[in-house]
Amino acid sequence: MRHTRRKANLGRREQVGKRRHVTASRTKGSSPVDVLRLSGAELLRYVLNEPDVWERLARCSGCGYQAMFYYSGEEDWPCPECGGTCKPLGIDWWTRASRRMRLACQRDPKLLPAVKAEWNARYKQPLDPGKLYRAEDERPAPLPAFPGFLSWLNAAWARVEPRGRPFNESAHYELAHVVGTLEHAGLSRGQILELLGEPDRGRRLEIYDKFPERVRRSLGAAFRGGVAALPFVSIREELRRRINWARRQWTEPRARLRGERVRVRKRPATT
Ligand SMILES: [Zn+2]
Repeated sequence: MRHTRRKANLGRREQVGKRRHVTASRTKGSSPVDVLRLSGAELLRYVLNEPDVWERLARCSGCGYQAMFYYSGEEDWPCPECGGTCKPLGIDWWTRASRRMRLACQRDPKLLPAVKAEWNARYKQPLDPGKLYRAEDERPAPLPAFPGFLSWLNAAWARVEPRGRPFNESAHYELAHVVGTLEHAGLSRGQILELLGEPDRGRRLEIYDKFPERVRRSLGAAFRGGVAALPFVSIREELRRRINWARRQWTEPRARLRGERVRVRKRPATT
């Protein structure tokens, strides 16, 4: 059973070999997630967000290069970085990793409920084709099918209730996109806050129309038409926190595995 993936993977690159497709998880300029260095809690989020990673991830023993491979029935692939050989990490490694994930759940009883809440917010069951979309029909997607070494996760998952306030990550991403667009057009944070902090649609447009002509020209007529529907932000601190959160998720692969919330509290040590 497959779950829907709402967000496109960051930094996908495809290399086509003779009989195989390689999707590298490492791109120049962005630091890759080194799976060997992840904590138990980080591994847990990793296996949930990368379908079949235990089959698809291979690592070069020469240079440490890691990439997702589409399975072609072969055991190893030439390393695109050093010419060495990339091999799957293997069932023994994943069994040990699974033990660390389980231990992390036992040591921190809040971990799995938080991860379940993240999953429920992120992955929804697809509606029947042709059916009109209604928010009340949305249901969390079921977990993917796990191999034997992860079977404990199904039982543990069923035992816990999702914990934490619903977390609408797409709203933060949308806000960060909008602010990026406005900054690019030449507006200051203060001007952006003046606009997005105005709840009244009519007043918003008045504020917008007072921005310098070059700014409005750069944003275009279509943008003006959507000004009333832009996200609302009440205070500068909230604006800053939400933008910083979204940008960190975009630029730091490991931030996505830590389950960071917008209001960052001191985090307990994870295993
Ligand atoms: Zn290599």
